[in-house]
Amino acid sequence: MQKVYSPEMPPVSVDSVLDRFRRAGALLEGHFRLTSGLHSTGFLQCALVLQHPRDAEACGAEIAAQIKDLNPQVVLSPALGGIVIGQEVGRALGVRAIFAERQEGKLSLRRGFSLAPGERVLVVEDVVTTGGSTRETIDVARAAGATVVGAASIIDRSGGQQNLDVPYHALATVSLPTYQPESCPLCAAGKPVVKPGSRV
Ligand SMILES: [Zn+2]
Repeated sequence: MQKVYSPEMPPVSVDSVLDRFRRAGALLEGHFRLTSGLHSTGFLQCALVLQHPRDAEACGAEIAAQIKDLNPQVVLSPALGGIVIGQEVGRALGVRAIFAERQEGKLSLRRGFSLAPGERVLVVEDVVTTGGSTRETIDVARAAGATVVGAASIIDRSGGQQNLDVPYHALATVSLPTYQPESCPLCAAGKPVVKPGSRV
C-alpha cells in the first residue's frame, strides 16, 4: 500500500485546514461574485494557501489519505483552481495528475492528456460551491470512457447541495451564506460586488 504521510508530516485536522487559511489571509469578508454566479459575504482564496508548497503538500496528502480506498489511477482537476491541489493529491497517491480546461466555454482535455477506457479517475477541486464544475469535470472523464470513482476538495461550501453521483470527500466544510444576485442583501444595500480573481 502506498505510504501517504512522511513522518514529519502529521495528518491535518479540519481545524488545522482552516488555520492554514487564516494564516495565509485566505478567509476573506466582503461582497463577492463566486464562479458559480452566486453572491456571498465570504470567500476562501485557496490560491493563498496553495502558494505555500508545504501547505499544498499537506492538504494533498490528507485528501489522498481520505480517498485512498477508492484506488484512483489518475487525478483529474478543472483548471485553473484545481491544478495545484490535484498535483499534490497525485503526488501523495503516486498516480498521475492531469487537468481539463475551458475552450469556448466547454471543459475538455488538451495538451495531449488522455484517459483510458475504464481508467479509475478521482476528480479533485480546490472549493466545491454548487458542484457545477465538479459535475462538468466528471462528464469529461466519462466522455473519455473512464470510470469516476470519487471526487474531493479542500473546502466544501455547498451546504450539502453539491448533488454528485460519486463519493465525495472534503477536508473542511464551511458555511458561508450565498445568495442569488436578484435576492442578495448586499446588492440591495448598494455595496459594490467583487469578483475574486487576480486582485483578491
Ligand atoms: Zn450581491
